Amino acid sequence: MKTDIRVGIGYDIHRFAAGRKLVLGGVTVPHKKGLAGHSDADVVLHAVADALLGAVGAGDIGRHFPDTDKRFSGISSLVLLRRVAGMLKKDGWRVSNVDVMLLLEAPRIGPYRDRMRRRMAQALGVAVGRVSVKATTQEGVGAIGENRAAASYAVAAVYKGR
Ligand SMILES: [Zn+2]
Repeated sequence: MKTDIRVGIGYDIHRFAAGRKLVLGGVTVPHKKGLAGHSDADVVLHAVADALLGAVGAGDIGRHFPDTDKRFSGISSLVLLRRVAGMLKKDGWRVSNVDVMLLLEAPRIGPYRDRMRRRMAQALGVAVGRVSVKATTQEGVGAIGENRAAASYAVAAVYKGR
């Protein structure tokens, strides 16, 4: 059987809000604000889930986990990511790698980066070396630079066959 390789891209953005936990890549990061959203607003995992769904042409997380559905209110996005991984696995897809580019001004995520990689690798059932997390600030420019929002890009490659 020939190897079938696919790639997908994901992007997400959430506003910062007071009184919310900041959850990034499945890890709670201590900060004075969190991200607003229906679920835990994990902007990293939402981008990763969209990249994986995009790679196999399966739509996006809004379609699979609509924010009008009460079952997904406050849910850990790791649960959603595990479900996406399960969907791909059922169709014979294996995750080759995931690369995340997180855009936020604060806090510094360096100390949490490896924990995020491990959480995501675990949810996807792959070795931690297949998951990368990078972060950059916006040098104070725009909504993200002014600490009003955090955004994340993700690219995922999946394959079928040998
Ligand atoms: Zn989101």
